[in-house]
Amino acid sequence: MSLKFYNTLTREKEVFIPINPPHVGFYSCGPTVYDYVHIGNLRSYVFADILQKTLEYSGYKVKRVMNITDIGHLSSDADSGEDKMTKGLLREGKELTLKNMRELAEFYTEKFKDDLIKLNIKVPNGIYFASDYVKEDIKLLKKLEKKGYTYKTSDGIYFDTSKMPNYGILWGGKRNWDENHVRISENSEKKNPEDFVLWKFNPRIGFDSPWEKGFPGWHIECSAMSMKFLGDQFDIHTAGIDLIPTHHTNEIAQSECATDKKPFVRFWIHSEFVDIGGVKMAKSEGNFLKLESIIKKGINPITYRFWLLMASYRTKVNFNWEALEGSEIALKRLYKLYIELGDKVGKVDVNYQQKFKKYLEDDLDTPRALSLLWDVIKDENISDADKKATFLDFDKVFGLDFKNIKKENIPKEIIKLAEEREKARKNKDFKKSDELRDKINNLGYDIK
Ligand code: AMP
Ligand code: ZN
Repeated sequence: MSLKFYNTLTREKEVFIPINPPHVGFYSCGPTVYDYVHIGNLRSYVFADILQKTLEYSGYKVKRVMNITDIGHLSSDADSGEDKMTKGLLREGKELTLKNMRELAEFYTEKFKDDLIKLNIKVPNGIYFASDYVKEDIKLLKKLEKKGYTYKTSDGIYFDTSKMPNYGILWGGKRNWDENHVRISENSEKKNPEDFVLWKFNPRIGFDSPWEKGFPGWHIECSAMSMKFLGDQFDIHTAGIDLIPTHHTNEIAQSECATDKKPFVRFWIHSEFVDIGGVKMAKSEGNFLKLESIIKKGINPITYRFWLLMASYRTKVNFNWEALEGSEIALKRLYKLYIELGDKVGKVDVNYQQKFKKYLEDDLDTPRALSLLWDVIKDENISDADKKATFLDFDKVFGLDFKNIKKENIPKEIIKLAEEREKARKNKDFKKSDELRDKINNLGYDIK
């Protein structure tokens, strides 16, 4: 397969060629674990999973690493405000200690991993806590210090962006990427508005360092950890688009200055937002939903994955329950059609497989790839056994769990409705019986 992805760095769809084929080094920014993740955050992980599965489907061997931000992320992505983990401890009435911080992080990391599993997301080979790699942060910071890229203020060690001529390359080479943004410094000691913290002093709580006690900056964690596990240069770095202007821009600055301008990452690939009511879903907006809310409504979490795949990862989506319920009906119908194909698994249909590859090659066009499932079902020239094999082949990327769908997997609510209908028929209440049959049909099931 000749894969093409939209690279934020070049603002073009580019043919993907890894540095060391067939191996692919792939890093994803993980969550800040001071609270539950929301379904907006989870979009960035569903997207990274589809990307990984497409690479593997194409024969690449992917080494995927993800950090868990359990220290150092300030409330604003623009590097200001209070520390998110401190905020989490205060909210839960816990004493401010490193031990409690770690416990809080471990609790929410487990919840996060549960969500990944529920969404059929392959948990990356390496998930690492940032607090276990402070030594690596300090090493990188010392390199930058030695090369003259840092300076000290009363509250921390900062990176001097004026020392890097192409600072902001990921953001179109601009410096002040948004004039109204809070990033225009709240800290008057900064030499340039874009300068960012590498080590933040904290006399109350933190790690020992050659400077003062404190925490590494959020950005340096991702540079130090990705380079530790994937080398100074690697193939793919992903996250949501909000991390382009600050976090990723600063990762490039630190990493490339520390390695004497070696290009840090080949492909920067970013997924769009999930909005709700036309506004970005965010913890700070208080408009977020957890995956648990979907499950509590009796909706299979895979439905959320299916709903996301119906849009390109580069399209903003607006979450609403009606749309999700519509996807639920469509997915249940697909499951039912799949079950009706019988037990025999034949050969993958080569024509459809070629189309499938063509769509995924084109910057992961999942909406068109998904539409092939309906085309395969309708095609009278393919045997049921071959249709089944084709579904299972495509599902290596889609992850909709066809192989685990069994006849007896009919949801309890459908069985209950079918029993009610049987009772109505026995009582000769045909109006009610018809109504119940319609309801069952609308939910994607037939009574035979
Ligand atoms: P955070 O825990 O804030 O660092 O976010 C974890 C991941 O979720 C990052 O890749 C963000 O870009 C992404 N993200 C945050 N909010 C949204 C949203 N509303 N829609 C899609 N992705 C998001
Ligand atoms: Zn990161």
